[in-house]
Amino acid sequence: MPDIKTVQHMKWWGWGVDGVAFSHDDKPSLAPFVQKVIDVDLNAPAEPPMAFEDLAVPASQLSEDLQKALSGALGDEYVVSTDLDRVVHAFGKSLRDLVRIRASDLRRIPDVVVYPADEAQIVAVMDAVLAADAVLIPFGGGSNIAGSLEAPSDETRQVVSLDLGRLNKVLSIDEESGLARIQAGALGPDLEKQLGERGWTMGHFPDSFTHSSLGGWIATRSSGMQSDKFGDIADITRAMRVVQPGGTLATRAVPVTSSGPSVREMILGSEGRLGVITEATVQVHRKPEKRVVIGYFFPDWKRGVAAMQAISASDATPSITRISDSRETQFSFATRKVSKGFSKFMSSALIAVLKRRGWDLEQMCLSFIGYEGSAEHVARQRKLVKKIVAAHGGIGVGEGPGALYDQKKFDTPYIRDFLLDRGALADVSETSASWSHLMPLYDTAVERVQKSFAQLGVKGWVMCHLSHSYHSGACLYFTFAFKAGEGDPVAQYDVVKSAVQQAFMDANGTLSHHHAVGTEHSRWLADDISEPGVQMVSGIFTAVDPGRNLNPGKIV
Ligand code: FAD
Repeated sequence: MPDIKTVQHMKWWGWGVDGVAFSHDDKPSLAPFVQKVIDVDLNAPAEPPMAFEDLAVPASQLSEDLQKALSGALGDEYVVSTDLDRVVHAFGKSLRDLVRIRASDLRRIPDVVVYPADEAQIVAVMDAVLAADAVLIPFGGGSNIAGSLEAPSDETRQVVSLDLGRLNKVLSIDEESGLARIQAGALGPDLEKQLGERGWTMGHFPDSFTHSSLGGWIATRSSGMQSDKFGDIADITRAMRVVQPGGTLATRAVPVTSSGPSVREMILGSEGRLGVITEATVQVHRKPEKRVVIGYFFPDWKRGVAAMQAISASDATPSITRISDSRETQFSFATRKVSKGFSKFMSSALIAVLKRRGWDLEQMCLSFIGYEGSAEHVARQRKLVKKIVAAHGGIGVGEGPGALYDQKKFDTPYIRDFLLDRGALADVSETSASWSHLMPLYDTAVERVQKSFAQLGVKGWVMCHLSHSYHSGACLYFTFAFKAGEGDPVAQYDVVKSAVQQAFMDANGTLSHHHAVGTEHSRWLADDISEPGVQMVSGIFTAVDPGRNLNPGKIV
């Protein structure tokens, strides 16, 4: 039986594990860049988070009866009420969460954290929670950025956080069908290691891969960077088991079904409101013979996006299509290390070539296209894409930048904490839209964010990339940053965050392509799916959970 000590948690105040942090020491261009664009001095003394002991942690309200019932079901060792466990399970990792936790603004944190070992124990926890009329919040990796974990601040009932960390096994692989049964608490590295040992991959690699779980991915409709090939989690997940108040829901792992409205789809994105996902059957693929990510430059954003659209409409089937706008490209250049990767490929010879072609280097956009499969397949895809890139005025710059991107991708999340230590607020908002609406949506979002900076009177930065291409459209992922002014940083953040989300609604996007609704985006839900849509979702939640015991307040 897995030990509780094997369950990994992130830092209580930020991303990732203790001892790992972002540094700009080996990136000489970053400090001048940040100074220029948001007026923050990276060399000024940083203000790290307070010591954990100085947090004002509210006392646990766990009753003796519920404590006994939970301990009876799991054993004392797996029912934990320490301050650290309760704080770690209280929040996700949105900017709002990080700012609040650093300010000791904790409000209604869980009274207890339970660590069940299997589905039978989860049923027992569910029964105990319902008998006590308490609240149950499933916890995967705690990486969400939509406010999907926090109990409502006025919640008067006891709050139980159910950590799935001990359910981390690949249970079986149906090699004939390419389907694997995996426990919901498995984090990305856990499950890829176990699949990889038998020559398989699930192909789901969100940027949060190292600290997010299969159950969390399903409950938030996650998307990984190789979704162009493997699909989003909604495509990958073929079946699941879910412990609910009325029993355990189980769907069949069939490739497709016409058995009425899709129950599988209802669980996808349900954020713990329809029960605890205990396991899922997912599509897996043989590990590819070859995998390569190639860098390309385009003269400007418009031509780069048109190339991504043309690739999605062509016979080419890359695993990644991604292009940064010119501002994100400049940011990438600013994070380059001395004499490595970017510096090498952005050689003076290359710059001279681009200038000769008449490129304005300020407008240039960096793209990554990924290929995987047999060597022959990869070679053919590269050829197809090369033609499309050339037709849109782009040029290939080889494997160097792609390899660098691949190495850096799971380190990037650490930068937000580094900036926060230095008084800068940085966060993201992402959406998807059809190809015909994509460019107007981009223009609207950038303009609204810049207006919101002006309203706050701050020097801000907004940048964007396109990733996850589909037949009819793509995802646009915006990052914004600014130096916090005097007063409440969360209120300042709200001005910018609301501006970009409202732009998505006004310009035919969705409220989120893959970060879910939570509490952060719920006010835009009716705009997105219409009032009758909201009523339908509410009705399903009420039918399954009439007492609002399951993660109340999220989505609707
Ligand atoms: P948690 O945060 O623990 O929980 C999220 C929600 O799911 C909660 O409502 C919780 O109650 C519910 N839940 C969790 N497990 C279960 C379960 N077993 N049963 C029922 N409900 C459950 N997302 C992407 O899709 N792609 C990305 O590339 C990506 N990059 C990110 C980068 C950073 C730096 C950060 C901070 C976040 C990123 N995210 C990304 C968002 C986040 O990682 C995803 O939302 C992820 O799917 C959450 O998984 P988790 O296990 O951490 O879930």
